[in-house]
Amino acid sequence: MTDSSVYPPAIEPAELIWRDGQPESARFGDVYFSRDNGLEETRYVFLNHNALPDRFKGVPRRGAFVIAETGFGTGLNFLAAWQAWRANRPDNGSVLHFVSAERYPLTPDDLKRALDLWPELAPLAAELLASYPPLVRGTHRLVLDEGRVRLTLYFGDVLDAWRDLSFIADAWFLDGFAPALNPDMWLDHAIALIRGHSKPGTTLATFTAVGRIRRALESEGFEMRKTPGYGRKRDMIAGALPVSAGNPAPIRPESVAIIGAGIAGTLLARNLASRGIAVTLIDAEENAGAAASGNLQGATYVKLGVEFNTQTELALSALTFSQRAYEPYRGRYWHPTGLLQLAWNAQEQDRQARFLERNRYPEQVLFPVDASTASTLAGTPLTAGGLWFPNNGWLSPAEVCRDLARHPLIDGRFSTRVERLMPCNGKWHLSSCNGADIIVDSVVLAAGHKTPELIPLRGEYRFKPIRGQVTQIPEAAIRPPKAVICGQKYLNPCHNGVAVTGATFDLHNNDPCVTERGNAENVDQLRAMLPALFREDEHPVELEGRVGFRCTTHDYQPVAGMMEDCNGHALEGVYLLTGLGSKGLTYAPLLAEYVADTLTGQPACLSATLARSVRPDRMCRSRSG
Ligand code: SAM
Repeated sequence: MTDSSVYPPAIEPAELIWRDGQPESARFGDVYFSRDNGLEETRYVFLNHNALPDRFKGVPRRGAFVIAETGFGTGLNFLAAWQAWRANRPDNGSVLHFVSAERYPLTPDDLKRALDLWPELAPLAAELLASYPPLVRGTHRLVLDEGRVRLTLYFGDVLDAWRDLSFIADAWFLDGFAPALNPDMWLDHAIALIRGHSKPGTTLATFTAVGRIRRALESEGFEMRKTPGYGRKRDMIAGALPVSAGNPAPIRPESVAIIGAGIAGTLLARNLASRGIAVTLIDAEENAGAAASGNLQGATYVKLGVEFNTQTELALSALTFSQRAYEPYRGRYWHPTGLLQLAWNAQEQDRQARFLERNRYPEQVLFPVDASTASTLAGTPLTAGGLWFPNNGWLSPAEVCRDLARHPLIDGRFSTRVERLMPCNGKWHLSSCNGADIIVDSVVLAAGHKTPELIPLRGEYRFKPIRGQVTQIPEAAIRPPKAVICGQKYLNPCHNGVAVTGATFDLHNNDPCVTERGNAENVDQLRAMLPALFREDEHPVELEGRVGFRCTTHDYQPVAGMMEDCNGHALEGVYLLTGLGSKGLTYAPLLAEYVADTLTGQPACLSATLARSVRPDRMCRSRSG
């Protein structure tokens, strides 16, 4: 048997045995939950011994409560905690974060079968199942319950999870199979990492009462107590890190300004609003999504590398997150028609062959297709096959931006060009030529290629604007595809009588006007890539187009996080979210989530390795040499 899990990014799924309708692990020889009543056991062991329903009631406005768990398994503990959160949370925009690591995730079918055991959790289980990520290694963030619940699901070993994730838990659920059957999860080293993600007052509970584990927790400073176990289990243990005076107050900005109402800025504004934070959204244009995010159509597309490295992991994470993030717009502004990455020349064919040899992706993400299947899926005659991404598609970006910007906690200030950012008494003053200064705790620069002009620091930053012209092809001129096709150019399905193709990649050209040359380049390259696309009886017409400017970086990786000066000192309260190049529609949802996590001091949706790869300080020319 070929073990596909040795190839990235696949992860080995759980192997279940169903005994009397209840799941057991074939690998560990243990049950996922008590045979007596799993849900009651969860409530007794994990919720009650962390005093959860009560502690939920006290979560402050714009705050968060963080639960961390070893072993996500069937998600029963998560759903029980979510149910208790719904019943007890204050009506103040606070968020329940649940961080869980799982080395052998259940397949979606097994997960459904396991969760069908709990009819009272059915609506929550359905929401979880609808967002359950593909079985690939790494960190997955699921935004549930309109943002009031955020699940960080790490598919990988618990030791890697606790080394690589950034969060501080309020409560721990130490689940995992019995220590005798799964000793690796209960190593002293693992317990030291748990301590590292805790603070004074953090509580924990576990179903086991093994003396070695109790002693290991005590040696890390937890005050532990033995109490009666659930059902047939005699004992369990629970405890807490003692509270000390002078705990630092969590960061919770009162007010945030975002400069730039493109896809990045509007996603971030809506994201912060969903966490109860008021946002001033500023743009020089008259409306949201009027600049680079204003094309009629845009595809969610990433090119996954032959090597599964940090860049590929970020691209994959961004892609799967974007599919979940745009789901509410399905059928309106989001059309997940599928996307074909066409093997349009010998070089791309060779690249795709090497990519498929070295990687294993779930079919939910992508699979190879020959020319005939590709033609059927794309709905237009093709002479080559390629990689089919069944859940990608295209958006009407400007409509999405406008919808995102409509929220009672978002104050849109349009036709406002910010001239300068000045620090003053721990706040930031934003001055514009029209209107009074805007004064806020934090400011995020999400102004695309205009961002460098706003950075309130001396120094040179390695951003470059790249002009891109798209062309609208009239429906009558082509055999229009029903899916997105990407190669040397991309082509969208028709919408309102046209299909958008593009874009040119014009370095050192700042002409904002559409040129005939740009349209001709797009059409010629599209014709070369898709020889059967254009109808023979087509009559040349004057083509319409649109020009935008991408903000790119020297390493073509995005930029997200707190600003630092060229000496590595944080510029408190200033964040960047830019450098998205031509992949903004795909990267912006995940990076907006990450910036919102950072700004609010909540658990990060990016692992430390991925977070490092998008750090703003790498843009400082004098720093990185
Ligand atoms: N909390 C789960 C629930 O609500 O259904 C039950 C967890 S089950 C008892 C233990 C889980 O720990 C299994 O899903 C198993 O695959 C996972 N696990 C075991 N060893 C692990 C490791 N080293 N790292 C991460 N997860 C692990």
